[in-house]
Amino acid sequence: MNSFLFAEQNGRIVPMEDKIFGINRQAKELEAKIGKEAVVNATIGSLLDDEGRLVVLSSVVEVMKSLDAVDYADYAPIGGTVEFKKAVIKAAFGNFEPDCFTGVVATPGGTGAIRNTISNFSKYGDEILTSDWFWAPYSTIAQEIGRKIATYELFDGEGHFNIEAFSKKARELIERQGRLVVIINTPAHNPTGYSLTAGDWDKVVESLELMCTSERKATILVDAAYIDFAGDADEYRAFLPKLEKLPENILPIIAYSLSKTFTLYGMRSGAMICMTQNKDVADEFVRVCEFSARGTWSNCTRSAMTVLSRIYNDAALLKKVDEERRGYRDMLLRRGKAFESSAKEAGLAIVPFDAGFFASIPCESPDAIGKELQKDGIFLVPLAKGLRVSVASISEERCRAMPAKVRAAQGI
Ligand code: PLP
Repeated sequence: MNSFLFAEQNGRIVPMEDKIFGINRQAKELEAKIGKEAVVNATIGSLLDDEGRLVVLSSVVEVMKSLDAVDYADYAPIGGTVEFKKAVIKAAFGNFEPDCFTGVVATPGGTGAIRNTISNFSKYGDEILTSDWFWAPYSTIAQEIGRKIATYELFDGEGHFNIEAFSKKARELIERQGRLVVIINTPAHNPTGYSLTAGDWDKVVESLELMCTSERKATILVDAAYIDFAGDADEYRAFLPKLEKLPENILPIIAYSLSKTFTLYGMRSGAMICMTQNKDVADEFVRVCEFSARGTWSNCTRSAMTVLSRIYNDAALLKKVDEERRGYRDMLLRRGKAFESSAKEAGLAIVPFDAGFFASIPCESPDAIGKELQKDGIFLVPLAKGLRVSVASISEERCRAMPAKVRAAQGI
């Protein structure tokens, strides 16, 4: 290692290479050597077709192509264009019309919404609560701004949402910190594919209501990155009404992303939307989050805002986009179900799964089993408690074949 290095660590643990990108790179290198047919690359968090090509909604591409030069050349207002803010509320809430104040701030993807929520609704040194199975960048984001991730066990012994573990950890943190940011990635959680049920939501809300006071406040960040790939749009938004009438000491924020829903991953667009009965809280939300935006990425991609605004201003176009997405969503759901049922047949234990881009296999020594599978040309992502399979990036046939191969690798 060169001792003449410059960067400050500032309390962060900066790895030499992002784990997921690293394994993906190895899979790509092997593909180049022995051919695509011989490699199963189930590491990628983007929806690919059966031939391994990125799925791109052609209806969205058409809108992109119709943009004027100013749509991509000009700056957007820090918090997003007025049209975008209206459109993104419709995109996030669907047919649900919230009976509360909402505040909206544009962000570069869901990632920006997560970053701004942590930075504005927790203090330096605070711990942010999420489940033990979680998307690793939560920790990167928290470390970047002097916070840490704390976890609770997502599932109890019966494979249900572990409300006891959630409540215990939440109470401990809120008593110590006076406030708490909870990140709940649902529906179609990354990395497990779990979606909180209506009953789970009731328990989470009830538990937070019991522990919050005028001195103790909680922010619930709903990371909804996969909401449009879980199943029926209304059904998977049924939790939203549970958030509109919460007491003033609980602030729900929806992190909405255009990356997956509109296949605009690279355009870096999304929004954070708060729901509250208190107008001052909504106004403050917009003011502080715009301030943070100005101090980090400044403004977001204007062309993506225009694309979304055009889609939501044209009912026929919106229908076309929704229909095109539905086809791909159903393809993804079939893959997930094929993996789940084949795991059952093969006797492979998987983490409770509902829908989405990923499923997970709980196991000891995930790194060793991951390496064993690589000998067979299969690339999965080892996590602390198991292996993540991206059903979004492999065909239904490969999803079906995977469990038996993992089972064999576990026998090492
Ligand atoms: N949250 C989760 C759990 C994700 O997996 C992702 C993307 O992979 C995101 C949020 C946000 O992605 P983006 O910033 O591209 O919207």
